[in-house]
Amino acid sequence: MNDPYGTFVDSAVGKRLAKALGLPMPVQLRRHTPGAPLLEGPALVLGGTPAAEAAARLLTGWGVEVQTSRAESVKYAAVVACFDGIDTPAAIGETVLDLGGTLRQLATNSRVVTVAEDPEAASVAEDPAARAARQGITGLTRSLAHEMRAGGTANGIQLGDGVGLDAPGAAGALRFLLSGRSAYVSGQFLPVTTTAGRLPEDPDRPLAGKVAVVTGAARGIGAAIIRTLARDGATVVGVDVPAAGESLTAVVNELGGTALPLDITAEDAGARILEHCRSRHGRMDIVVHNAGITRDKMLANMDAARWDSVLAVNTLSQLRMNEAFLAEDAKDVVGEGLRIVTLASTSGIAGNRGQTNYAASKSGVMGLAAATAPLLAARGGTINAVAPGFIETEMTAKIPLLTREVGRRINSLSQGGTPVDVAEAIAFLVSDAAGGTNGNTLRVCGQAMMGA
Ligand code: NAD
Repeated sequence: MNDPYGTFVDSAVGKRLAKALGLPMPVQLRRHTPGAPLLEGPALVLGGTPAAEAAARLLTGWGVEVQTSRAESVKYAAVVACFDGIDTPAAIGETVLDLGGTLRQLATNSRVVTVAEDPEAASVAEDPAARAARQGITGLTRSLAHEMRAGGTANGIQLGDGVGLDAPGAAGALRFLLSGRSAYVSGQFLPVTTTAGRLPEDPDRPLAGKVAVVTGAARGIGAAIIRTLARDGATVVGVDVPAAGESLTAVVNELGGTALPLDITAEDAGARILEHCRSRHGRMDIVVHNAGITRDKMLANMDAARWDSVLAVNTLSQLRMNEAFLAEDAKDVVGEGLRIVTLASTSGIAGNRGQTNYAASKSGVMGLAAATAPLLAARGGTINAVAPGFIETEMTAKIPLLTREVGRRINSLSQGGTPVDVAEAIAFLVSDAAGGTNGNTLRVCGQAMMGA
């Protein structure tokens, strides 16, 4: 990654200067490596609630040393703070202050995970005190994420009605948020609204036996996604425009997958993907709608070609393909449990100057995911969106230096993310361990101030 500032503040002189001037001090993030332990140190579980008991059991099972009360002079790799069963904001304080007391004892690249019940759950729709308590946890978690140091993150799990932390989807979310797979995810929430899902037998091969289709796989984030899904055990199918055929073939050959040169805006794109999976692999379990384009212009200068092409590639093609994948005549290749992830963007959340077309297309896919979720749930599947922030790619390397520096620093981790960070979040969401999360958008943006 071309980040001269990051390299400078990592040096002895740079560190001293940055500290004296109060400049951002990014640290090398802990990223997932197969076979590595989940955490490199003990975890503290706070709250004494049923979720806290489940967290302690799960962590112990994952080989982590667990403590339930703070010991002086211990460096904690993670804290899990549980707020389940709380029905008034007056009851939050004790655990929060306990959590606050441990912050100076956190190791580099630590994790804080808050666990609470979902503020949107039907059971508290007419209970102001309980909803205030649950919603209060979101503000506290987001603020703490801004206060974390040295690569540390803070995120939350929101449990739906009747869902305990020991439900597979909740346990899967906990493991993801503690792991190096969530390196660039901070200040975010994973709502786990059902007890659906399954933890993998081998946490390093969660996608074993699955066939995964990734669009726009020839380069950039798409190439990282297809490599990550293959690493996690999936048989991969890469799709990209015929003009990118050579690089697409190079990527999929390296992974033992197959290539399908195809423009996804074609009317029959969905049918052609299904036919490829049927004839070459016999099934299709996962789809990642990653292909996307930008055609930036201020709205005053926008023309029909720029507007239409962005909407056609980024949103309309997905609507058409999903319809084909969910059709009755696709059932021979698309079995139960189809998992789809679509690529949104923080521009679609906060808006971005010069990007009315792109932002419309990206907020559009978040809506698409929310409204397709019930259709997939009825068949044991899920669809979620991932919204990347500033990711170090060829695209962002071309942004003028000053704008680029601002873009990559204005987040809680003071650095840009990598394509792998986006790929890891997607690999989690398409795994059965995320089976309890549906119709949601997960930001992978280091808690960018933009759209916070
Ligand atoms: P990229 O331009 O490097 O790669 C996109 C790929 O999609 C290319 O290989 C391209 O050939 C392919 N593609 C484009 N139109 C296609 C079509 N009609 N049919 C088939 N393939 C097509 O982009 P990237 O930076 O890797 O971004 C990947 C996704 O992530 C996009 O949806 C993008 O909007 C989103 N995203 C990127 C960033 C970032 O910082 N790079 C931030 C937020 C969101």
